[in-house]
Amino acid sequence: MPEEFVVTPWEVRGQIDYDRLITEFGTERITSELLERLQRDAGELHPMLRRGIVYSHRDLNWILDEYEKGHPFALYTGRGPSSGIHVGHMLPWFFTKWLQERFRATLYFQITDDEKYLFRDFEELGEATKVGYENVLDIIAMGFDPKRTKIFLDTEYIHHLYPIAVEAAKRITFSTTQAVFGFENANNIGEIFYTSLQAAPAFLPSVDAGREIPVLIPCGIDQDPHFRIARDVAPRLGYPKPALIHNKLLPSLLGPGGKMSASVPESGIFTTDSLALAKRKVLNAFTGGRATVEEQRRLGANPYICSIFANYEFIFEPDDGHLAEVERTCKSGERLCGDCKLELWGKVESFLRRHQEARERAKARIEKFILRD
Ligand code: SF4
Repeated sequence: MPEEFVVTPWEVRGQIDYDRLITEFGTERITSELLERLQRDAGELHPMLRRGIVYSHRDLNWILDEYEKGHPFALYTGRGPSSGIHVGHMLPWFFTKWLQERFRATLYFQITDDEKYLFRDFEELGEATKVGYENVLDIIAMGFDPKRTKIFLDTEYIHHLYPIAVEAAKRITFSTTQAVFGFENANNIGEIFYTSLQAAPAFLPSVDAGREIPVLIPCGIDQDPHFRIARDVAPRLGYPKPALIHNKLLPSLLGPGGKMSASVPESGIFTTDSLALAKRKVLNAFTGGRATVEEQRRLGANPYICSIFANYEFIFEPDDGHLAEVERTCKSGERLCGDCKLELWGKVESFLRRHQEARERAKARIEKFILRD
């Protein structure tokens, strides 16, 4: 990995070169031909596809081959419940919801409370489970179809997951996990075993159906290493390799060189932030603006390093025409950062109000979604 940036499942740092990540990780770019095919099969393209935010994949052509032959695929995604949810976490979930709707796919949503305990985010396992249930409220609030969505916590669905994880674990060597995750002697043995449990839901749809079901995993590109092991082990277990579709990462509100992070609360908007706090974060965010109004009017600003523009582009402005107008007026100097932030805040505010209401209602709907043994 080049020194100037780092992208791993645990750490994202520096100015990310997404093209180089495709080469480093050995994934494939989503080409214009593949976009046309997605458009044909889905009937439309999600803005994240049109804008190249969802930009990389593994075996997506195969998923569409199967789909076009009448073999539906399942979706698998997950959440490591280390903290509350910020909008950066939700980025792949917005896209997953679109995939579920357009392809009528069943979604398996794994909550890895065991992982977050094993990897030392919590002193007590019960704490991880509790945060897991808080995160489940956000997932339900996003509007996934209860008839096609199965959410489970590892500690509560282990009878189903464990036999698959054991089959996977028998075929994964310690040296493989060392090579992929950099484990050392000081790592606890739960951490080393854990990857087999993360692989299990990729095969669960096939186990449930008693036949091969293709699985597509939408995730941030930083999560790709987790699923390389699942893909390696799949043929030896008699299952198809899960396919992946990767999104870029929502930049931090604090500026270039990182993604939104739960460990830095000011870096992102959390779903449980008060409106006043969220507004303060937007108004204090890093921009590509000039030092003075006069300079900005004269020289224009730079949307490509601006966290406010990234939020318009990644999530809050679905209209391509208006996004282009924001970009143009930013560069020409017609738009000033204060106004631009307030306009974005209007969009964030209505999203947060809606989401927080839906999150409240989700408390009474958990049992419609949760699987337990
Ligand atoms: S005008 Fe808007 S998009 Fe341009 S730099 Fe300022 S905040 Fe960012």
